[in-house]
Amino acid sequence: DSARKTPTLKCGRTAQMEIEGGSDSKPILDLHSLDDNLVQKMVYDALVWSSLHGLVVGDRNVQRSGTVPGVGMVHAPFALLPTVFPENQWKLACEVAPIFNELVDRVSLDGKFLQESLSRTKKVDAFTSRLLDIHSKMLEINKKEEIRLGLHRSDYMLDEKTKLLLQIELNTISTSFPGLGSVVSELHRSLLKNYGEHLGCDVNCTPSNDAANRFSEALAKAWIEYNNPKAVIMVVVQPEERNMYDQHWLSFNLKERHNVTMIRKTMAEIDKEGEIQPDGTLLVGGHAIAVIYFRAGYAPTDYPSEAEWRARLLMEHSSAIKCPSISYHLTGTKKIQQELAKPNVLEKFIDNKEDIAKLRKCFAGLWSLDDADIVDTAIEKPHLFVMKPQREGGGNNIYGDDVREALLRLRKDGKEQNAAYILMQRIFPTDSATFLVRDGSCHKDHAVSELGIYGAYLRNKDKVIVNERSGYLMRTKVSSSNEGGVAAGFAVLDSLYLT
Ligand code: ADP
Ligand code: MG
Ligand code: MG
Repeated sequence: DSARKTPTLKCGRTAQMEIEGGSDSKPILDLHSLDDNLVQKMVYDALVWSSLHGLVVGDRNVQRSGTVPGVGMVHAPFALLPTVFPENQWKLACEVAPIFNELVDRVSLDGKFLQESLSRTKKVDAFTSRLLDIHSKMLEINKKEEIRLGLHRSDYMLDEKTKLLLQIELNTISTSFPGLGSVVSELHRSLLKNYGEHLGCDVNCTPSNDAANRFSEALAKAWIEYNNPKAVIMVVVQPEERNMYDQHWLSFNLKERHNVTMIRKTMAEIDKEGEIQPDGTLLVGGHAIAVIYFRAGYAPTDYPSEAEWRARLLMEHSSAIKCPSISYHLTGTKKIQQELAKPNVLEKFIDNKEDIAKLRKCFAGLWSLDDADIVDTAIEKPHLFVMKPQREGGGNNIYGDDVREALLRLRKDGKEQNAAYILMQRIFPTDSATFLVRDGSCHKDHAVSELGIYGAYLRNKDKVIVNERSGYLMRTKVSSSNEGGVAAGFAVLDSLYLT
């Protein structure tokens, strides 16, 4: 019957649309017609696949799951099927990745710009202030970072009304999920291969994702540039890390594909075991360190005592390649994002006019709280804005009526505190029905997606060795939640279905 012949599926055009030649129209994202038995079968297969292929995280219900690998693993939360995304927007995001890599490098070289842009934030934000102190110290001793490694992720949402792909933020430290993000794309490709005929989907519309390989290759190339065959790569980790398998994907790749060893150390361990030799070599527990890869150190909670700050300073003083260096780290702050969006600022750092135009096109509205007019507007219409402090890792932003309250409070308390925050245009992505799989159960809900494009950059003096786009990460969250990262339990790992 005709209802059977025209199933409306998440990732395919309906048969009816094909007949009508409606290839330009949006695929219908109606999951209601998906047969429940089929969904259950796919969920079962996906759970088995995840367990067999390392799409796992530590289970928060198991005590040692954040410290001992192989203990208390649970599948990472994932979307059952990839999310439909317009190919032209995907291409745009890919195209700007190397330009953003270059921008970070250029901005990081301008110590004065970083210090001045953050000078007022420094007075009201103790964490940013400590980072800036380390940066100042490096400027004072004229510390040269000849080999520079950036492993970034630029995040975007597709604004429904304007159809613009707008940047949420650019992460320069501890960008997560290059490992599991790659695996989830493979999961989706496997499901599409096995169920594609039932679904009317084409597996080739889900691009394979080589983020884990690209990042480990960039790390390996940095290791080669450092040119000490005995040295290792050190990943700086939190004492408990339930997302350790994401990191282990990189260390495993490094060993298997490049024969480079990666050791794991906490900031406290680095403080205890670290020393710098007269030639600048960082030794930790007797290992010479070629590259320091930070998967910790981005949040105040990563510095519970002076020991961690000592460790950060020690690392910065050393000749090891820091991913990121303190200046790359600061370049990724929200305040700098907002400064870069001001008129004529990109021009200071990038020469090519077309490149500048491409970057600017994906900037959302970004304002300092010193802009009294915009603050008035935001008090009036708070739901059109997001208020952001200088923090990373999710869960720190202010939304809705809280924006109004916070702005009114700041207005009373005086101007100083303004510099701790930025205001950003709120982006409203299209929501669509999605199957979210968590803890072995599948729920259907309305969800929105955020696309992250990884970028790797490696330069030794004048020689740019790597400047590339390095895979992607799609994260999908229930639309009723403002934020909520994957770890926080609202978002799931996802991939793309390009149309
Ligand atoms: P963090 O560095 O903590 O990840 P983000 O700027 O990425 O900070 O904000 C966290 C989350 O908040 C994003 O993943 C996104 O879901 C949401 N968000 C941030 N900025 C906006 C915005 N302008 N419009 C809509 N949602 C946003
Ligand atoms: Mg961030
Ligand atoms: Mg973010």
